[in-house]
Amino acid sequence: MAAAAAARIVEVRETTRVERIGAHSHIRGLGLNDSLEARHVSQGMVGQLAARRAAGIVLQMIKDGRIAGRAVLLAGQPGTGKTAIATALAAALGQDTPFTSMAGSEIYSLEMSKTEAITQAIRKSIGVRIKEESEIIEGEVVEVQIEKPASGVGTKVGKLILKTTDMETVYDLGGKMIDSILKEKVQSGDVITIDKATGKITRLGRSFARARDYDATGQQTRFVQCPEGELQKRKEVVHTVTLHEIDVINSRTHGFLALFSGDTGEIKPEVREQINGKVAEWREEGKAEIIPGVLFIDEVHMLDIECFSFLNRALENEMSPIVIMATNRGVTKIRGTNYKSPHGIPLDLLDRTIIVPTQPYDEKELREILSIRCEEEDCQMSDNALTVLTRICKETSLRYGMQLIMTSSLISRKRKALEVDVEDIKRAYQLFFDEGRSVQFLREYQQEFMFNEVDDRGDMDI
Ligand code: ATP
Repeated sequence: MAAAAAARIVEVRETTRVERIGAHSHIRGLGLNDSLEARHVSQGMVGQLAARRAAGIVLQMIKDGRIAGRAVLLAGQPGTGKTAIATALAAALGQDTPFTSMAGSEIYSLEMSKTEAITQAIRKSIGVRIKEESEIIEGEVVEVQIEKPASGVGTKVGKLILKTTDMETVYDLGGKMIDSILKEKVQSGDVITIDKATGKITRLGRSFARARDYDATGQQTRFVQCPEGELQKRKEVVHTVTLHEIDVINSRTHGFLALFSGDTGEIKPEVREQINGKVAEWREEGKAEIIPGVLFIDEVHMLDIECFSFLNRALENEMSPIVIMATNRGVTKIRGTNYKSPHGIPLDLLDRTIIVPTQPYDEKELREILSIRCEEEDCQMSDNALTVLTRICKETSLRYGMQLIMTSSLISRKRKALEVDVEDIKRAYQLFFDEGRSVQFLREYQQEFMFNEVDDRGDMDI
């Protein structure tokens, strides 16, 4: 037995080890103080203070939940933390506010049209907080009757007469309630609660009027006072779902199982209209509340003119999320046209967008980010190695430098060292090329590759 238990404990430990480390898994929030100022290093975020503060204000806007249909663009060079900031924002929003993240290229799918893909993403980013009243009734049991089926097998049926302050009610007992009654040993004179939503019955004790000190089993019973007016209680249950989830559940062609497979296909506009109507009704009755969440579109320059125009119109709807876009492009062609515009985004959409720029990191910040990543990847690195790696980042890119953490760590392990040293970084740097050296290599050896399209001057179309 003891051996079996020990084996199980080991198994649990193994599963936690398998947890994967993602590109942004070190980020736990925006790292702001109470007045929304960014702390230099906090919650896994380093520097980029102005952009983080701006994201903090957007966060406040979303939390207030009043403003829908705003667009924010994070614009800056590759690797300056645009996706990291959006990830931090998502973490700071918490579970109850929907956050959908997609890459611009994801809308090009054979399964659904581009506009359907955007509509689904938008509706995944809008929460509906539904309030339901579940009644919990408290009263004194006048009588319980449970009839066992004559044959001894089959379902039991029964009745329960409950006295509350103002009336006596007869309840037909179903299986769950009977199970609860038998389990709690409920009898006449007991004070109980019935949760009407779940059918669960809880025995509180004997009633005030007939209270005795001991029940039939000799156990001391709880002495329950039932002052007038306190016999009925109400409880509110709140849950949040997204508009997209309501769409899928109500779409006859798919059904709710499609939520698990993600294979929802296109949803008919009539279904959406009906649902919008129903949700509006619930809002009027005070049963539901709309929570505009966040739709994050990374590499937004991958959208084409049709998508931009659709998105622009969707932002005007009162049930629209806050759209956060990110791009590393400067002035470039808008996909699907021959026109150029800043960030490849049409001017009418840019006009309604607030733009948050991200800046390249200085050496100190790069070192800080690398050191956080070393910790995240469980890698011990000497100070000198970290200095060399920071220098490499400065010359190449932060992403490339991050890749060298794991590779140099594996190299150091091979020579059975306890920490990564300069020589391991050097070896990894020699083995794995960054983009600059790779281009250089291609230029030198272009003739040896198939399909080379480098012109005589050595220019590439990339
Ligand atoms: P691209 O334009 O190429 O998509 P990006 O601006 O979105 O780049 P990220 O992917 O956010 O860049 O950053 C690259 C890596 O650096 C990620 O692993 C990210 O978590 C990390 N990183 C970037 N900025 C910070 C920061 N300020 N603090 C901590 N980690 C950061």
